[in-house]
Amino acid sequence: MALSIPGDALDPQTIKGFLAPDEGEALQARAMEAASAAPGPLVEIGSWCGRSTLYLGRAARACERLLFAVDHHRGSEEHQPGEGYHDPDLFDAELGRVDTAPALRRTLALADLEAHVAAVIGPSAAVGAAFGGPASFVFIDGGHAMETALADYRAWACHVARGGTLAIHDVFPSPEDGGRPPYEIWKLACESGMFEPITRVNTLEFLRRV
Ligand code: MG
Repeated sequence: MALSIPGDALDPQTIKGFLAPDEGEALQARAMEAASAAPGPLVEIGSWCGRSTLYLGRAARACERLLFAVDHHRGSEEHQPGEGYHDPDLFDAELGRVDTAPALRRTLALADLEAHVAAVIGPSAAVGAAFGGPASFVFIDGGHAMETALADYRAWACHVARGGTLAIHDVFPSPEDGGRPPYEIWKLACESGMFEPITRVNTLEFLRRV
């Protein structure tokens, strides 16, 4: 017997991931706002198993836009075997690699969002370089290594349309709270003259492209 599709009844917090409920709700609301203020699709960098993709996919559907969900699906440093956030259920032992693509695909099917989300499996910086743009909303939630965060910022911030929104997850201003690179790229965005900070929800920062 086929599994029933919960669709809109699917609670994003039941999907594996690291986005808090208040962050997810803010993400969805701000994405809808951005789409009404600026042209272009929505873009997510770092989908993992699709928790944030679900919030943004619902926004995309409501605004009749497409969400590009970009991820290499091999996990970040902290997801690798032996690291703090490794999940054996998301590990292809035969290949010896993390693989979150099947989980994302399953999330999109369960949420009935397959018509509104295009999953792009590949390196974010290369995809960004080839992206035509503009995008009304760009959400950066990729790896936390300085090189990775910088590459995501450099490849994607330039695509945010005037009046559109850039969102950055895991911004911890205090060094004791962990990885600083998302904070560093948020600072870069603030100092670029291209963006002005709008608001912060938990560890999620929103900036408007001026
Ligand atoms: Mg994150």
